[in-house]
Amino acid sequence: MPASTGLLISGGLDSAILLGDLLAREVHVQPIYVRCGLRWEVQEQTYLRRFLDAIAQPRLDALVTFECPMADVYGEHWSLSGYVPDATTPDEAVYLPGRNLLLLLKAAVWCQIRGIPELALAPLGSNPFPDASQRFFDHLLVALNCTSNSTIRLNRPFAKMHKQEVMRLGCRLPLQWTFSCIDPQSDLHCGRCNKCWERQSAFRDAGMVDPTEYASIVESN
Ligand SMILES: [Zn+2]
Repeated sequence: MPASTGLLISGGLDSAILLGDLLAREVHVQPIYVRCGLRWEVQEQTYLRRFLDAIAQPRLDALVTFECPMADVYGEHWSLSGYVPDATTPDEAVYLPGRNLLLLLKAAVWCQIRGIPELALAPLGSNPFPDASQRFFDHLLVALNCTSNSTIRLNRPFAKMHKQEVMRLGCRLPLQWTFSCIDPQSDLHCGRCNKCWERQSAFRDAGMVDPTEYASIVESN
């Protein structure tokens, strides 16, 4: 029997918490990871598998992974090598061009082929990027449903939620097995990059203990 919903999961806090929430609502979930060749993906996938193992249950299907290599398009982009955006870097500088479009295409087509009627993803309302806007998702949904006789819905339950609400929703999940660093040090979060700073702020602002082991900690105010 096909899952009730596919879920795009990176193994970061938001998509991991969305998975936990769907399972708590007794939804049958097919997790989907898209590998683009970015420099943190080895560690991201290691942590994601630990998280999935930790919350394994009959309604959670085995992870499906798709390849979407971006080196030929991104070239010298920071996500592949070189410069690491830190806590002082504006959000605009950490934009991954076409990110949601790329992630959604293969996942949505795969769900349509298998008769999975919905694809869930976890962008927050505070996401500043154009491919997280209502307009983008409205247009993409129309395009997807023009390509197949099998219609699909896009479910974005966190689109009107703040980070603190999402964090509290996940407070009982094994969040130590989520990963959100763009400059991993061996198997650890670096503790210095833009995404580590966001992660530390998320736990602090939600009043939760941060279970993450960081390679180093930068004090922030
Ligand atoms: Zn980091």
